[in-house]
Amino acid sequence: MLTVTPLSEAIQLAREHFGSLRTSRDFVDLASALQRVLAEDICSDEFVPVFNRSTADGFAVRSADVFGCSDSIPALLNIAGESKMGEHAGFVLRPGQCAIVPTGGEVPEGADAVVMVEYTEDLGGGQVAVYKPVAPGADMIMRGEDTKPGDVILPAGRRINAADIGALAALGVTNIPVMRRPRVAIISTGDELITPAEKPAPGQIRDVNSPLLYNAVLEAGGEPHELGFIRDDEDAITETVRKAAVEHDMVILSGSTSVGEKDAMPRVISNLGRLLLHGIAVKPGKPTLFGEVNGVPVFGLAGNPVAAYFLFYNLVRPILFNLQGAVPFDHQLTLPVSRSVPSNHGREEIVPVVVRDGRVQPVASKSGLITTLADTDGFIRIPRELEGLREGDLVQVTLFSR
Ligand code: AMP
Ligand code: MG
Repeated sequence: MLTVTPLSEAIQLAREHFGSLRTSRDFVDLASALQRVLAEDICSDEFVPVFNRSTADGFAVRSADVFGCSDSIPALLNIAGESKMGEHAGFVLRPGQCAIVPTGGEVPEGADAVVMVEYTEDLGGGQVAVYKPVAPGADMIMRGEDTKPGDVILPAGRRINAADIGALAALGVTNIPVMRRPRVAIISTGDELITPAEKPAPGQIRDVNSPLLYNAVLEAGGEPHELGFIRDDEDAITETVRKAAVEHDMVILSGSTSVGEKDAMPRVISNLGRLLLHGIAVKPGKPTLFGEVNGVPVFGLAGNPVAAYFLFYNLVRPILFNLQGAVPFDHQLTLPVSRSVPSNHGREEIVPVVVRDGRVQPVASKSGLITTLADTDGFIRIPRELEGLREGDLVQVTLFSR
């Protein structure tokens, strides 16, 4: 029999043991930075923009010159020059003058605002009528308004997204300090397993966990290495785990985690290193374990793919983020549940759900049904002390990353 630990305590225990592990620093270019985690704060060392820049097509003016003008009493200004895209304006605006500026062009020295072209009229002979007053700073971005030297643009620990890459490009940061992606070994175990490309004979089953966990690791920023599947053989598992723990930052196994005769995993980890936990009060996923071998976290997930994925998501993924110095995050929503869900297993229950029209639809499933997770959006956790959920109860959904 397993002595089970509540899931939240198991997560806490993993954090205590592995939470301070970090990979080393690495540098990538802008094309490879997506989803990498910043190893240090990114500070600006420039003024962006480096010149006062117009955000509209129109005329650069001194706002005092157009103060109080209107449709009936326009301000009359003389064109001092034209600011061209990509070029320094090179002249100074004197009182009573204006300058032609395109969107993105430099606002010449002396001007402090831009009047949009639709509020002006070219009177010919170098004269322009302005029909609308503008406040200082209108329709322009000041030098350094985006960033100034010393501003922290992106903090260490941030997972870089496409918009962040835009900010890095704006600052000219092209050699980006990130944490090395954790190398993660993925190993399935079971005499019944065949590759996904093969056709199962009675008694056989395709190895679902290897590709599932490979991609789950990828989504969490890791560098997965599929070591394939091995037979339920203690010596074979021992050798594979011993080698994997030398070459990787983390090892994820699945299958063979129960207390049956053939379930070798707990023994293997105890013999090679230290077993830290075996058995979690959660359904599915009770026969989950973890320990360390040479200081490397080794997780043994239950073979049932639904259990393996849910325990990966709740227990392993946060450690993968930790290894990269990133704050673990989940996309969560609180929404009403569409129907009642009985649950009194004395264990916390994780239920896959679909989110439709602002409601959470639990997906009924029997343990062992592999397609349960197909076409779902995330999961809810029903605490062990609850008898279940009633229709309309508010629940917190964790959405799978997309
Ligand atoms: P185990 O944890 O080894 O007792 O396996 C529990 C259930 O999950 C059994 O029905 C196994 O056939 C199944 N299973 C184990 N490993 C995998 C795998 N890699 N892919 C799909 N199903 C698996
Ligand atoms: Mg097995």
